[in-house]
Amino acid sequence: MRKRMPADSVLADDEELRPYECDGLSAYRQVPLLAVLPATLEELRHALRVCSTQDVPVVCRGAGTSLSGGALPRADGVLISLARFDRILDIDPVNRTARVQPGVRNLAVSEAAEPFGLYYAPDPSSQIACSIGGNVAENAGGVHCLKYGLTVHNVLQLRFMTIDGELMTAGGSGLDGPGYDIPALLTGSEGMLGVIVEITVKLLPRPETARVLLASYDTVERAGAAVADIIAQGIVPAGLELMDNAAIRAAEAFVHAGYPEDAAAILLCELDGEEQEAQAQVARVRELLLARGATGVRLAKNDAERRRMWAGRKAAFPAVGRISPDYYCMDGTIPRRNLARVLGRILQLSDQYGLGVANVFHAGDGNLHPLILYDANAPGELQRTKELGAQILELCVEAGGTITGEHGVGVEKIDQMCVQFGSQELAQFHAVKEVFDPRGLLNPGKAVPTLARCAELGGMHVHGGRLRFPELDRF
Ligand SMILES: Cc1cc2nc3c(=O)[nH]c(=O)nc-3n(C[C@H](O)[C@H](O)[C@H](O)COP(=O)(O)OP(=O)(O)OC[C@H]3O[C@@H](n4cnc5c(N)ncnc54)[C@H](O)[C@@H]3O)c2cc1C
Repeated sequence: MRKRMPADSVLADDEELRPYECDGLSAYRQVPLLAVLPATLEELRHALRVCSTQDVPVVCRGAGTSLSGGALPRADGVLISLARFDRILDIDPVNRTARVQPGVRNLAVSEAAEPFGLYYAPDPSSQIACSIGGNVAENAGGVHCLKYGLTVHNVLQLRFMTIDGELMTAGGSGLDGPGYDIPALLTGSEGMLGVIVEITVKLLPRPETARVLLASYDTVERAGAAVADIIAQGIVPAGLELMDNAAIRAAEAFVHAGYPEDAAAILLCELDGEEQEAQAQVARVRELLLARGATGVRLAKNDAERRRMWAGRKAAFPAVGRISPDYYCMDGTIPRRNLARVLGRILQLSDQYGLGVANVFHAGDGNLHPLILYDANAPGELQRTKELGAQILELCVEAGGTITGEHGVGVEKIDQMCVQFGSQELAQFHAVKEVFDPRGLLNPGKAVPTLARCAELGGMHVHGGRLRFPELDRF
């Protein structure tokens, strides 16, 4: 590896490799065989060719914030960090696009576009740290994706390198292009099809105004029902987030966002657009929130208060990290009409397992993020946490939803893929993988389980198997 790379770009000592042993899902750890930090396409090509000719697995890493173990290294594999691909190559205010390298931080794109009155819409809560390459690989979402779409809806073109070091370009500058939609296929592919080396994203004009309402409820179920009502009325808020009492208190203690600490749940609803339109929507949403029994509804008085309200939500995960030695973040999506019932069921499961759960999530998308609070040093707690997490994901599938909304499958949810999909669908996933990476060297063991693994788990597929939560509405 060192033949065509600077010595400091190839790390092999144990203490140099330690920082790469896990991503944001720290329950799983593994030091890689080697870590390499290429800074140019030539160095990356060299690294990939060395691995390819030696049949050595490759795991890519952006900022390492994944919550599903997607960037977890392998003992027999090379970890390739894209951190040095950190340049914004072009901001085009006329076409409203940005061309960036994969290691660029998500927030840095909006900061670079700011002087032109533009921004990059997908805004994961980790946006100060996570990379655009990682966002594409995970199809990341965020508070504003309800109205402006996930990463996949905001990517125009991708350049990527195959495991053999060939450079390919997919997509273009227009809204549609000939051929298969390869950028969409690569978005969410969790580093299993190619190494993303350049991304062209859409930039949006900043809305004229943005208003945030904060509504308090004395039950989580009522807050969940209000979300379903807002969406059913055809209103598309820019963001619609729910936090339960545990998350409210943790965030308030951390960032003093002005949340009511005695509320069982709060909803944050942002409405943006032209001044008059936003004002009219604020009035309609306020009525709906009150009709569902909100104990208080507050409109942010100015932009500073609006930002403070969002700061609490965006810091909620690290805030929960302050009240519990460890937390395990789940990520499932359900039809919004089932929100209230599923949240109630999660509360029951939390009692049953004796583990606290804090809920803070993209309610408008039906994208749940139950944070299971545990202590990795308490014997058996991690195992119980994983079992509770698995139950929650299976509950999401039975409620007509999916086992992931934005965090990907990684190693965390690989068994639940057997619940979500049958052997026919999984065979198609393997066929796609084989076209891009016939020897299975890119991120093996992640995202798509083998058919044998699912068979060993005993045919869990929800449509062919048993139902655990028969009380839920299904599609
Ligand atoms: C506090 C916190 C809040 C979060 N909030 C959100 C949120 O609101 N929404 C959300 O969607 N996610 C959220 N996440 C999860 C995480 O930030 C996202 O999944 C993010 O997209 C990961 O980016 P990364 O650069 O850290 O990628 P990494 O963690 O380094 O890698 C993630 C996956 O992408 C692959 N990968 C990385 N770079 C490349 C590349 N160039 N080419 C090919 N494959 C690559 C890796 O192999 C791995 O499979 C949060 C995480 C934390 C810790």
